[in-house]
Parts: sequence; structure tokens; C-alpha cells
Amino acid sequence: MTTAPATDLEAHLAPYAARSARTRGRVHAEPASSSRSEFQRDRDRVIHSTAFRRLEYKTQVFVNHEGDLFRTRLTHSLEVAQIARSIARNLRLNEDLVEAISLAHDLGHTPFGHAGQDALNGCMKNHGGFEHNLQSLLVVDELEERYGGFNGLNLTFETREGILKHCSRVNAAALGELGRRFLEGAQPSLEAQLANLADEIAYNNHDIDDGLRSGLLTLEQLDEVPMWGRHRAEVAAAFPGINGRRAINETVRRMINTLIVDLIETTGRNIAAANPKSIADVRAAGPLVSFSPKIHEEAAALKRFLFRHLYRHYLVMRMSAKAQRIITDLFGAFMQDSRLLPPQYQAGHGADQPRLIAHYIAGMTDRYAIREHRRIFAVSESNSIG
Ligand code: MG
Repeated sequence: MTTAPATDLEAHLAPYAARSARTRGRVHAEPASSSRSEFQRDRDRVIHSTAFRRLEYKTQVFVNHEGDLFRTRLTHSLEVAQIARSIARNLRLNEDLVEAISLAHDLGHTPFGHAGQDALNGCMKNHGGFEHNLQSLLVVDELEERYGGFNGLNLTFETREGILKHCSRVNAAALGELGRRFLEGAQPSLEAQLANLADEIAYNNHDIDDGLRSGLLTLEQLDEVPMWGRHRAEVAAAFPGINGRRAINETVRRMINTLIVDLIETTGRNIAAANPKSIADVRAAGPLVSFSPKIHEEAAALKRFLFRHLYRHYLVMRMSAKAQRIITDLFGAFMQDSRLLPPQYQAGHGADQPRLIAHYIAGMTDRYAIREHRRIFAVSESNSIG
């Protein structure tokens, strides 16, 4: 267990917020910092990690090299952190903790977004499966190599709890204390609940923006989405004749604001009704961070729209099919001959070779995976070694 920092940086927080002074601690005991709270340290460790820098070159929806203006996992994570912090401050929750969770939540993502995750999970079907959310936890718990005394980033229980959004019962049982809530049906901290919904607010809105920018979505299609329609009408009334990017940006920012304000108000009411006196009360209560029923339904309709028109768009499906092929090919080649792997991923005696291959592939950026595929499969006179 760690001790409280010398100065109380969290005196303003609500009684049910997570507090550094009462953290359940780190797996490896470390002396407290004199200048930063425990959750500030977690956030800083995430930002300095290798996996965090890789997020810049990993797909959100669009493959990284398709355009400079689309979201990547990195800009997505920054937007999640921004939204989560705004809400946390309003609810007097721990901003440093929501920021640490938000910035770390996608660290385990494979290249090529969900298509990559599905492909790798398919490859690992008979070897324990692959789940990006659990992989994010593994990155911070095991895979980062930055400290002399331990593997991983040695983050606090609360940050790790927030990273692990969902978990199968089998995996939960293997995770000890961290997995217990999935077996017992308990809730994580409000900060963890909040980071989860901030993720949703971020991607629903930026995927509309990116979808329009790419031309895969049209403004006419979006008219069927009630949340878009009413905010677009507000923008037209406030700025007659407005159109193009400026109209889109005005509409998206209003939608984000509506979602944030609704989440703050609804969650505030939920907290008042449940009246938690501590984080322990929060864990024992039902989910407290939520949208109102009306906004929840509007957000669900928006999500259904994106699924139908963007995530299943034929050009996105082509990208997904290519991603599937690249990952399946790489996995197959490495399984067939582990000598093709960089030495640190070649399993020693008794080690789990499929899992090491999954770690190697999951850590790849989009372009690294494409290059690795070319290095292994392309035959050409101009191919050089390495
Ligand atoms: Mg995310």
C-alpha cells in the first residue's frame, strides 16, 4: 500500500470520489510522491508509455494513412479524457483518475480497429481468445518494460479497475481481486463508470464527423437521426445560411454538449437518490453514471445509424477484409514457424507461443502490420532484408 501525498490535492472532492490517500494501492509498493497524487502519477506513466505513442498510428475507424484529419486511437483517447474531465469536475469526482483511465483505455487495441480485434480473436480461438480490453490491462500490468523493479507500469488498483471495462467470468476468475466485481455484480468507481460513457460520447460524435469528412456518410442520411436533426435545426436558426464544415462542427459540438450536460444532470440526480457516503457505497450500488432515458434512446439511435451506414459501409468492409487477411496471414506464418518472429517473441521451453504472437501482433501499428506482411509474404527483386 502507498501512503498519502504530503499535500492534499484532492480536498475538494465529493465523499464518494476515489481518493489517492485511500487507494487500494499498487501491486509493487512504491514510496508516495511529494508533488503528485497517486492518480496523477498513473496518468503520467500512461503518457510516457510506448503503447501510448503507438496509438497515434492505430485505426479508430479509418486506417491511419487514409487521411491526416481522421481520428486515430490517440486523438480519440485525448477526446475521451477531455470529455471525462469536464464531467468529473462538475460532479466533484477525481479528474486525475478519469484522465488516467481514459488515456489508457485503448492501449491494448490491435491495428485496424475492431476488424483487427475480431481477426486476432479468431486466430486465438483455441488458445484462450483475444480481448482488446483485457489486453489494455495486460499492457499496463505486464507488457510495458520501463522500470527496473517490475514489469508493466505498476498502476493503482483504481486505474486498473477502470481500464477493465468488461470481462468474461473465466478471465475474471483468473484476475483475483480486480476480477471480483464481474463475478459478484458489483460496480467500479464513478470515475470508471464515467470514463466508459465518455468513450461513447467521443466516438459517436467523432465518427459522424469523420464519416462526413470521408464522404461515406451524407448530410441527407443524417436527417433520419433525431439527435442530429434537432441540433442541426438549432444551428440553422442561430446562423441562417450556415453550411459546409462550419455547420457540421457547430452541430457536433452542440450534440457533445447536450450529452455532457445530460450526463452531469442525470448522474447528479442518481447520486442524490442513492446517497453514497463513500466509494464502497458506490461499488455496492447499481450503475450511477447514466444518461436520461430520452437521451439514452437518442444516443442508441445514433449508434444504430453509425453501425448501419458507416461501420458496415462497403468501403469500410473492404478495409476490414484486408485487415482480417493481414492479421490472419501473420498469425498463421508465425504459428507455422516461430523462427520468423523477433527473438523476444519466440517462446522458450514451456512458454505460451500463441499468446506471445498475439502480444506481438496486438502491439503493431497499422503501418507496421502492413510492412510486416509485405516483408514476410511479398516476393520481389527489390525486397531487401529487414
Ligand atoms: Mg475507446
